[in-house]
Parts: sequence; C-alpha cells; structure tokens
Amino acid sequence: MQVIDTIDAFRAARKGFPRLGLVPTMGFLHEGHLSLVRRAREECGAAAVSIFVNPTQFGANEDFSKYPRDMERDLALLREIKTDLVFTPTPAIVYPPGHSTGIEVGGVTTMLEGAVRPGHFRGVATVVCKLFNIVQPTKAYFGQKDAQQTVVLAKMVRDLDMPLEMIVCPTVREADGLAMSSRNVYLSPDERRAGTVLYRALNEADRRFKAGERSAEALRKAIRDVLATEPSGAIDYVSVADRNTLEELETVPADGALASLAVRFGKTRLLDNVVLGG
Ligand code: AMP
Repeated sequence: MQVIDTIDAFRAARKGFPRLGLVPTMGFLHEGHLSLVRRAREECGAAAVSIFVNPTQFGANEDFSKYPRDMERDLALLREIKTDLVFTPTPAIVYPPGHSTGIEVGGVTTMLEGAVRPGHFRGVATVVCKLFNIVQPTKAYFGQKDAQQTVVLAKMVRDLDMPLEMIVCPTVREADGLAMSSRNVYLSPDERRAGTVLYRALNEADRRFKAGERSAEALRKAIRDVLATEPSGAIDYVSVADRNTLEELETVPADGALASLAVRFGKTRLLDNVVLGG
C-alpha cells in the first residue's frame, strides 16, 4: 500500500494501474467506507482511497476543526483490506494560495442538505472534481447514505462529460439499524440509543408504501410520527422526493421514491434515507 500526499507523486504512482477504483473519504473510517473499498478493488482490480477533511464543504459554524481524525488507525484498516493507493493531501496542497474555481451543479443542490447547508455541495463537487482529475479513476464509489451527494455528483459527471463511471453502494448499518457515520462518535449514550429512531421511521414509511400508500404527505407524516417518539431529536427535514430530481412528490409512483431525513440530537446531525420499495 502506497501512502502519498502530493499530486505529482500520486500521478506517478497511478501509472502502475490500468484500472483503478476511487473511494473519496474524509477519514475516521468505518465498515461503510471499507465496503466501498472492497467493491472498488473487486470491480477494478485496484483501489485508491483519498483521506481529506475538505474545509470548503463545512459551513462557518460547522464541525471542521472538531471533525474526528485518526490517520494511523485509518491506514491500518486500509492496509488490512489491501488498498493499493492512499492519497492524503493537506488543505494547502488541494487549495494552494489563489485557488478560486468552484463547481456549481445547480438545481439538485438547493433542497434538503443544500437548503440547510448553503455552499456545502459547491465544496463537495469542487473537491470531488479535483480528486477525479488527480486520480483519474475508472470508477468512483459512493455510499447511498449520502443520497443527495450521489445525485449531485452523478449530475456533475454527466453535465461535464467526466470519463468515469459512478457506483452507488448500499448503506452499511450498525446491528440496531443506525447508519454508520464518522460523526456517530459525537453521540452521548442516550443520543446513540435515540438515534435508532431514524431507521425505524424510514422503515415505517417503507412498510406503508409496500402496503399501498401512495400519498407522499401521508408517508412524510408517518415518518414524523415515529420521529416524535424520541422528543430529544430536532427534525431538520423529512422528505419524500423523486429519486433523480429530488423534487418533493405529491403522489409516489409505483417504482418508488427517496425517503430521506435529517435530525439533530444535541449538536450532532444524523442523516438517513431509504428508497421506498427499493
Ligand atoms: P465521508 O467520509 O463521510 O465523506 O464518506 C465517504 C464515503 O463513504 C461517501 O461516499 C459516503 O456516502 C460513504 N459512506 C459513509 N457512511 C456510509 C455507510 N454507513 N454506508 C455506506 N457508505 C457510507
């Protein structure tokens, strides 16, 4: 496993791999990340992982400086699963003085996370575009956990004719249903227990959808009703939207929709989603 922190050295090492799968991460790795790396290696024969806590996707009052980091542990986990290349640039390498270009994907960035976190997806799209240019992956792997991010990045790839395939992989969960996330370490024991309500709420919507409910508002209400059983959670949004445009639906088509939500427990925001009928 080669661990590389400069762009030139990464480009030189890249030449050794005819096909390469890329998994962009912010580190503090868990089984969700590792599932993407395994899939990248299986499908492409070689896997690259980037570990970069991207300052431009954090808002001014967000957790950039406190975001959990443990490079030694991350590298040990990646070595165990035989990752080929790890790219660990500093912010000064990614954004040297004078850097000013950004990627605005438009439409699908304005709702859900975009409405709550202005500028977030500009930061995400810009850094992922740079990583694609540096790594030149055959395929890039992302988690369904961050559903809107996959929609935004797929649109960027299409709109800008980027020569790679995007693969979206299933959300990996803890045994009690909580979606794995690096931010889960922020949760107190009580918040950690209460956090399981997100997946219970989404499952209730999926159950009703499968039983024939097609009113998106009824499904949003079903989700809110389950969330209300944990009053310590403050809801940012509950959405039942078109899977591609992320527009809120009135009627859910038979082939499903994206049910997604964000709930705050103390200072920690938890996100989750399911594809209804998926
Ligand atoms: P992050 O380090 O949080 O930026 O995540 C890096 C990649 O891992 C993103 O594509 C995430 O969607 C994905 N990811 C994060 N958590 C999970 C999870 N629980 N299951 C599957 N993929 C995940």
